[in-house]
Amino acid sequence: MFEKILIANRGEIALRIQRACREMGIKTVVVHSEADKDAKYVKLADESVCIGPAPSAKSYLSMPAIISAAEVTDAEAIHPGYGFLSENADFAERVEKSGFVFIGPRPESIRLMGDKVSAKQAMIKAGVPCVPGSDGALPDDPKEIIQTARRVGYPVIIKAAGGGGGRGMRVVHTEAALLNAVAMTKTEAGSAFGNPEVYMEKYLENPRHVEIQVLADEHKQAVWLGERDCSMQRRHQKVIEEAPAPGIPRKLIEKIGDRCAEACRKIGYRGAGTFEFLYENGEFYFIEMNTRVQVEHPVTEMITGIDIVQEQIRIACGERLRFKQREIMLSGHAIECRINAEDPFKFTPSPGRITGWHPPGGPGIRVDSHSYAGYYVPPHYDSMIGKVIAYGATREQAIRRMQIALSEMVVEGILTNIPLHRELMVDARFIEGGTNIHYLEQKLAHKPDLSKEVAIGAQSAADAKVEQ
Ligand code: ADP
Repeated sequence: MFEKILIANRGEIALRIQRACREMGIKTVVVHSEADKDAKYVKLADESVCIGPAPSAKSYLSMPAIISAAEVTDAEAIHPGYGFLSENADFAERVEKSGFVFIGPRPESIRLMGDKVSAKQAMIKAGVPCVPGSDGALPDDPKEIIQTARRVGYPVIIKAAGGGGGRGMRVVHTEAALLNAVAMTKTEAGSAFGNPEVYMEKYLENPRHVEIQVLADEHKQAVWLGERDCSMQRRHQKVIEEAPAPGIPRKLIEKIGDRCAEACRKIGYRGAGTFEFLYENGEFYFIEMNTRVQVEHPVTEMITGIDIVQEQIRIACGERLRFKQREIMLSGHAIECRINAEDPFKFTPSPGRITGWHPPGGPGIRVDSHSYAGYYVPPHYDSMIGKVIAYGATREQAIRRMQIALSEMVVEGILTNIPLHRELMVDARFIEGGTNIHYLEQKLAHKPDLSKEVAIGAQSAADAKVEQ
C-alpha cells in the first residue's frame, strides 16, 4: 500500500479523500491555492503545499505545480478528486511519466471516454444502448446535417464532443433553427473546450437521469454498485441524488448494470467510474461516462457499505477487487442534498464568511463538508460548501431523516440553497418518486420569488463571481 498520497483538489472532496487515507494509515499531502490556505483539510493534512494564487488556472489546474509538490514531498500517488484535472488524460499521463501513480483510469481510457463521440462509439461496440443520433461527429455539409436530423427526428440536441458540467448543449425543435444552432454550439465548444466537434442526439422529452457506479481493477475484474437517480437538476446540474432509483424494475437495472461491468472489461477500464444514462419508457440510453469519483458517490456508499475512495486507492495500488458481483448487497435508501453557497431561488453565488455553522446529525445522517464557523467561502471556485446525506431502511425513512436534518441545519453569514432543499423534501411529486430531469425547473418557473424570506442579514452576493 502507498505510504503517502497527494490530494490534487480542494473543498469537501479533499477532506473526503483525506479521511479515506487516514483510515487506511496513509499519510496525506494537500496542495492548495492562496485562497484556501486556512481550509480545514489543509490544517488536518500531514503536509501541505501552496501551489499558486487563487485562480484555478494558476493553482488547481497547474500540472507542473502539482507534480513538483509531489516531488518535494515524496508522495507516491496523486488523487485528483472530481473536476479540475480529474478527467484530463494529459495530466494522468504526466503524473505517470513523472514516476507517480495516478489514482484513476489509464490515460487512454480517460481520453476515450472524455470525447463523448468516441465514448458513444465504444459503448455501441460494447453493447451498451445509446441515445439515437449522429453516429459520430457532425460533418460540415449542411445537407448531411439536415438529413441526420430528419432521420433522428425532432427535437434533437446538439452536444459538444468535449463538453461537460452541463455546458455545450443546445436543443433544436425545428429544421429552420438547426444550422444556426450547430454553428453556435461549434463556436462555443471551440472556445470553452478547445474542441469544436459536435454531435447530434434525439432529445428525449421526459427522461430521468439514472447512472451506474462501477469499480474495475487492473486484472479485468469489474463490478457495478447499483444505480443513482440524479434527475433533480437545474441547468443540467444535479441538485439532489438518491440510490436506488425509485420505481424502476430491478431486472432492468440489473441488465444495464451487467452491461456496464462487461463494457469495463471490454475496454480494459481501471478504477471507479460512472455510466450515465437517460431513462425513458423502460429503456436506458447511455449519454456519457465519468472516469472519476462523483460528487454523489456517498449515496452508493451508504447502501452498499463500500468505501469507493478507499477502493480507488486499492485499485491504483494494483490490488484485486475484494468482492464479486453476487457479494454486493444493496440495502436501504440514501439521499444526498448538495448544499451550495447561493441564493436559493435566484441561484446567484453567495461567497463570504460563514459566521454560524451547525451541521445536523443523528441516526443515518452523514455530512461531508469542509465548512466551519469562521470559514470564508472563496468566490473563485464552485459554490458547493458541503453535502448532507440521509440513509434510511426505506425511502420514506431517508426522506424523513433528511427533512429533520435540513430543519436542524443552520448556516449563517451567507445565503445557501437549504431553503430550496427543505421545500423539495416536502414536495408531493418528489415524495412520490420518479420525477424527470425537467421537474425542478418547471417547479421553479411556477414559483414566486421566496428569496426575501430566507436569509435576513446575509452578506451581499452581488459582486460574487464563480469561476467554474
Ligand atoms: P455533461 O457532461 O455536461 O454533464 P451530459 O451528456 O451528461 O453532459 O448531459 C447532462 C444532462 O443534459 C443530462 O443529465 C440531461 O439532463 C441532459 N441531456 C443530455 N442529453 C440529452 C438528451 N439526448 N435528451 C434529453 N436531455 C439530455
